[in-house]
Amino acid sequence: MAQVKSIAVIGAGTMGSGIALTAAVSGIDAFTVDVSEEQLARAKAYHGKTIGRNVEKQRMTQDEADAAVSRISYVTEMDAASQAEWVVEAATEQADIKKKIFKQMHETFGDDVVLATNTSSISITEIAAAVDDAADRVIGMHFFNPVPVMKLVEVIRGLATSEQTTTRTLELAQAMGKTAVPANDRAGFVSNRVLMPMINEAFYAWMEGVAEPEAIDEIMKLGCNWPMGPLRLADFIGLDVCHDILMVLSRELGQDKYFPCPRLRQLVTAGRLGNKTRHGVYDYREA
Ligand code: NAD
Repeated sequence: MAQVKSIAVIGAGTMGSGIALTAAVSGIDAFTVDVSEEQLARAKAYHGKTIGRNVEKQRMTQDEADAAVSRISYVTEMDAASQAEWVVEAATEQADIKKKIFKQMHETFGDDVVLATNTSSISITEIAAAVDDAADRVIGMHFFNPVPVMKLVEVIRGLATSEQTTTRTLELAQAMGKTAVPANDRAGFVSNRVLMPMINEAFYAWMEGVAEPEAIDEIMKLGCNWPMGPLRLADFIGLDVCHDILMVLSRELGQDKYFPCPRLRQLVTAGRLGNKTRHGVYDYREA
């Protein structure tokens, strides 16, 4: 099939804004859709700043930057993006929200449009059940944060996902400059099945006084040669997102070890969600 020329991204938060930017820089038109005007404004500011920095660092010319900016549109209604040839849902990590969005995606987009989800942990088969006669077009297309930088896309087939949908997803990932790796449809897939328990354990180590966050992060960073420690990474991902993923793992895999640490739950309850609220494990408000 011909290369995808336009995509709609549902949700303009940390991930949706990154996916839209990556598409635009790869020559694909991107409709950024969010129920929140504020989030759309934030996404637009992030796009302008990132593209501007790319020009400054001579990673792209001013003409290329202008072309990328002109490919992105910002809308609050899904209908306004209905001509898109592909749709990726990147909204809040809650199954009921995603199922509702998928029903709307099914009604809004054409019959040959792939309905992809960027979910970190929710079963693709469960999401696909919301659009039963289109389940063959539903697939997990799991990008990593920050999307413009991270090379991986974890591709997850649901029970009914067709070969054609899978092949087209691998092609789109490649057109966006990514390396796609398949994983099976089990809560958390590979990446978050391994990563989230580690982040949760770092919260326990902090709560139990094993060390302060700075020391936990420094030990893991230098000891494992990671670019950042687990608590700093949790702030970067979003503490609410980590919490929601752990709730899915805990429920779906049926083991208490996945249940979010009380210290993590407390910060989320307090509205300290990490980078996005400029306060999480660490305080970024003065920075
Ligand atoms: P986020 O909280 O930053 O953004 C979610 C956005 O969805 C918000 O802007 C919200 O307004 C919007 N939204 C909610 N309901 C909507 C609706 N009905 N229609 C349109 N927009 C709606 O979350 P995020 O970190 O961008 O995560 C989005 C998805 O990507 C989640 O499924 C998450 O698990 C996954 N993910 C996150 C990361 C990460 O590092 N944050 C990495 C990979 C995957």
